Amino acid sequence: MIEIMTALAEAGALITDSHVVYTSGRHGTAYVNKDALYLHPRLTEQLCAVMASHYAPEGVDVVAGPTVGGVILAQWVAWHLTQARPVGEVLAVFAEEAEENGVKQRVFRRGYDAQVRGKRVAVVEDIVTTGGSAQKVIDAVRALGGEVVGLSIICNRSGKAGADLFDVPLHALATVALDSWAAEACPLCAQGVPVNATVGKGAAFLAQLRGSAQS
Ligand SMILES: [Zn+2]
Repeated sequence: MIEIMTALAEAGALITDSHVVYTSGRHGTAYVNKDALYLHPRLTEQLCAVMASHYAPEGVDVVAGPTVGGVILAQWVAWHLTQARPVGEVLAVFAEEAEENGVKQRVFRRGYDAQVRGKRVAVVEDIVTTGGSAQKVIDAVRALGGEVVGLSIICNRSGKAGADLFDVPLHALATVALDSWAAEACPLCAQGVPVNATVGKGAAFLAQLRGSAQS
């Protein structure tokens, strides 16, 4: 079994003890860069082996994830479950974004709906922050009469336990605390700790600071 936090950190997928500006504009110390993870098929494959290990290989018919990262994870998790079965194949599908009556949701297109209907489905996702997109995949499976047997994710940075977010078992490979502050209240800014300009909105934040210093 791989040491998950170390492996994520070595791949540059997990940054801790830094000074990061998130997409929301808030500041914090930790950042999960899933794009850095997917550069490395060997690591992705190893993480997905751990994700697959939470299920009985014959207890899952299909693995489903949301675009984009969930496509990659679904393939590897389904592959590992298939390898562990004496016969038969576990399929991999993905759910795309769709908008219905102004509400964003997830749907199975491309004939994947027929593979999900009435099946036992393991849902996969990379990072759960609010849990929104994973829940939409769960809803899409259930809308087709499928049974969600669990949700496996790389990283839980919601600050909440799985049972507080989902009504299916949550298996998270890593849990990263989401301590964050508004820029004005950021203790790292107050201490003059340099902002990490390589991830998140750090570079934009610094450019904005320079802009306001010049005006
Ligand atoms: Zn700050």
